[in-house]
Amino acid sequence: MGLIIRSSAIHAAGCYTTTAIRKGARVAEYTGRRLSKAEADTAYEESPITYLFGLGDGSVVIDGHCAAMFINHSCDANCETSEEKDRVWIKAIRNIAPGEEITYDYCLYDGGDDEAICNCGTGKCRGTMYSKEESRRRKAAAKKAVLNASNKAAKKTRTKPETASSAKK
Ligand SMILES: [Zn+2]
Repeated sequence: MGLIIRSSAIHAAGCYTTTAIRKGARVAEYTGRRLSKAEADTAYEESPITYLFGLGDGSVVIDGHCAAMFINHSCDANCETSEEKDRVWIKAIRNIAPGEEITYDYCLYDGGDDEAICNCGTGKCRGTMYSKEESRRRKAAAKKAVLNASNKAAKKTRTKPETASSAKK
């Protein structure tokens, strides 16, 4: 199997195959140092770019150092990741032709303030690289923040006794 790294239309560098890949085949392994989540949080606190891959429940992450770390996200990807005995494989979910860019869905989580905007440009694009669950969680959190803000505003209004009594009538 021939993988090459070159500039990509999606984002910066991308990973391309020079040979045909059959559906179900392992394309690459996501390799790198294993860190605890706490170690990774400390090491990359200030980094806008990371190549971390969370294993299992996310308590251990792989700090990518491999061709697979250059594979871009797509909402309509040709690969998916598969965890087998603490190793992570990028596997083809359809036949891939020579010259195609390899992509998988990052399903990001734990992104802080980063919007993680997706530029995959596919018809299925959800506009973000966060997982569906994480997107929902972030939207709910944003809504809660707005509600808290309006509650605070409401509390401020109630400090005026004449307004409160006139509202009761
Ligand atoms: Zn997308």
